[in-house]
Amino acid sequence: MSVEHIDFDPPRADEIRVRIVGTGICHTDLVFRDGFPVPLPIVLGHEGAGVVESVGPEVTRLEPGDHVVLSFNSCGACPNCERGLPSYCFKAGHYNYSGARPDDNSTALSRNGTLINANFFGQSSFASIAIARERNAIRVDRDLPLELLGPLGCGIQTGAGAVLNSLDVRAGTSLVVFGTGTVGMSAVMAAKVAQAGTIIAVEPNAARRALALELGATDAIDPSADDICLATMIRQVSGGGVAYALDTTGIPSVIEEAIDVLLPNGMLGLLGMSPTGATLSVNLMGLLMRGIGIKAILEGDSDPQRFIPRLIDLYREGNFPFDRLIKTFPFEQINEAAAATENGSVIKPVVVI
Ligand SMILES: [Zn+2]
Ligand SMILES: [Zn+2]
Repeated sequence: MSVEHIDFDPPRADEIRVRIVGTGICHTDLVFRDGFPVPLPIVLGHEGAGVVESVGPEVTRLEPGDHVVLSFNSCGACPNCERGLPSYCFKAGHYNYSGARPDDNSTALSRNGTLINANFFGQSSFASIAIARERNAIRVDRDLPLELLGPLGCGIQTGAGAVLNSLDVRAGTSLVVFGTGTVGMSAVMAAKVAQAGTIIAVEPNAARRALALELGATDAIDPSADDICLATMIRQVSGGGVAYALDTTGIPSVIEEAIDVLLPNGMLGLLGMSPTGATLSVNLMGLLMRGIGIKAILEGDSDPQRFIPRLIDLYREGNFPFDRLIKTFPFEQINEAAAATENGSVIKPVVVI
């Protein structure tokens, strides 16, 4: 990634121009940086937060000066958008990964008159300016630390939403979370909010295990310790198995282990990106006899306009301290920030602009 000067057209129709103050770096940005097919060069970034500078003529809810968190984009008109499940928008690809506006393949970004690919997740927020839409911008109070709020728009709502929306974890029940990056750690905090009785974090990184215990995990297991059988440990600390499991790793052998430790009628949520072509080996009769459910989850089944304000309320109450996951970097150090999450030293880097 390199920092360069480009030009921006004014926002049109339902678009808004946002002066970005902070953007989280999400694993998905790095997957696209590393060759997942999008037109290049492109402005990535999809966890932006900033101040509205101007609005298009059809915008009615937002005005210049508003503080906003940007989330993923969606059409607003398909059956899933109408049901309040915009992450499963029938046109999600066009609206988030095509590198351009879905209607006419244009973008608001250019250099020397040549169009620059953008509109990534309807924002392309690795930039001092982002052109987003009223639909994927969530207004927040002005007294909040705006530069830290961007990750609520993707990684944090994914983990928290998996627990509070998708699995709807019940008080007193048991949950295991495999992997405690941003998504897994947000799931741990949300499980505490849901008053789960047993919250097990499975994580090889010692510092992350310690933080998971501080943020709500009742137990933390190191899966790389060579003297343990992971499934046996999970059954031991949960008293026989767990009602819910969340995988954030995308690793097939971990997912198979997650299925194995579920109690009858248990639910598994899949949140991790697996390697291309990865497959699962599952005993189907075993699944049926135990009534196991498996759900692949995008963006925590969140409707960001409703769920992000809920997470901010929990944060204000002191019950969702997501800022503990964040380390900030100057914008010019965006490559160092990306490296810090890839080598595991930082959970959620945020570049401050
Ligand atoms: Zn839609
Ligand atoms: Zn993301």
